[in-house]
Amino acid sequence: MFEDITRVSQMAKAAVAKNPKVINATVGVLLDDNGDILYSSVFDSIIPTLTPKEKYPYEDVLGPALMRNNVLKFLKQEKFLSKPNMTMITAGGTGALSNAISVFSKNAGLVVSELCWNNYFTIARGFQVDLYTYNTFDKDKYDLKAFEEALDKTIAEKENIIVLLNTPSHNPTGYDLSKEELQSIVEILNKKVTDGIKITVILDIAYYNFGLNQNLDPFLELNEDINLAIAYSFSKSFGIYGFRLGSLTMISKDNEKLEKSFYSSTRAKWSNPNKLGCSVLSKVLSSDELCEKVYEEIDKHMGVLTNKTTIFRNALEEFNIKTFPHTNGFFLSIPVEDPENVALALSENDVYLTTVEGGIRVAISGVPSYRLRELAEKIALVVNK
Ligand code: PLP
Repeated sequence: MFEDITRVSQMAKAAVAKNPKVINATVGVLLDDNGDILYSSVFDSIIPTLTPKEKYPYEDVLGPALMRNNVLKFLKQEKFLSKPNMTMITAGGTGALSNAISVFSKNAGLVVSELCWNNYFTIARGFQVDLYTYNTFDKDKYDLKAFEEALDKTIAEKENIIVLLNTPSHNPTGYDLSKEELQSIVEILNKKVTDGIKITVILDIAYYNFGLNQNLDPFLELNEDINLAIAYSFSKSFGIYGFRLGSLTMISKDNEKLEKSFYSSTRAKWSNPNKLGCSVLSKVLSSDELCEKVYEEIDKHMGVLTNKTTIFRNALEEFNIKTFPHTNGFFLSIPVEDPENVALALSENDVYLTTVEGGIRVAISGVPSYRLRELAEKIALVVNK
């Protein structure tokens, strides 16, 4: 029951409404200590200036040209983006993932770590894509051996291989894959390329601007027969969750052909992205000055998150609680033997969180900083029993 994020989140909200002592650690949204969303105020100044034409018509199916051309500004330090690419605007990061998985879904297998955002499973199942999960960590490092084994199994059984990686600030652990780990992953993938095997790597960088290791340069070395799909989200970094905007960038030999497939896939799902949101973001992304302001605000929000993370990690250490490998980000996960019962016991002690494979996930992002020590103490009471 506690693995269903939406359901637990609703239970937590109802519990908080009845009793303010309840701690809701389910929310994958960055909140300040008053419970308000941290978003970039630049958007507030633009929205009242929009004309009806910028708000009410349908948007272009793959998003407005101005935004598609400029969307990668926020990833500008990423050298692999200088390769020819096809970028489209999507309905959130979820839309980018859903489009990338559905377009390659024919007789496909999705290779993904056991610890991952649960919605990957929902999306894959929705397009009849089989799952090939692997153990996530070997001690404090990514389990590259398990990754390669899962990849080999998928190659033996499927026509389309989709490898989904979520870095930096992995959900649910907050882990950033290191440069060396990314290099090894690219080497493993390059070794597997032979005729008749179609591999697509999806990089889910939904939390990119909160990552400490933002350098995805190892992907410059990815064999050009492998498709690279970069799924970005405007929800997390910009704090505009309700705008439902994200982007998908394809670096592939078949960019042109793929654009047609993505067009059809979008028409069949959300038809075209949110016009109002696209108009606002087109204005921001085409102005260096506004981009700078947004960057400054993201830096401030990163400071809030880092402060919360430091408080929580110190408290976990004080109460002698081990975590899965963690770098930074909205989430942190704690290995426990019986996640469901631990989550149940915590809910009876006014703490709501979700379960993951072999552990519990704490969404630090949504908890006020002044309650994080108390949260760690309550977790310790149940986990250290
Ligand atoms: N990827 C990961 C790992 C996430 O946790 C989320 C949202 O929680 C997303 C992608 C999608 O974000 P959105 O659709 O809100 O842009």
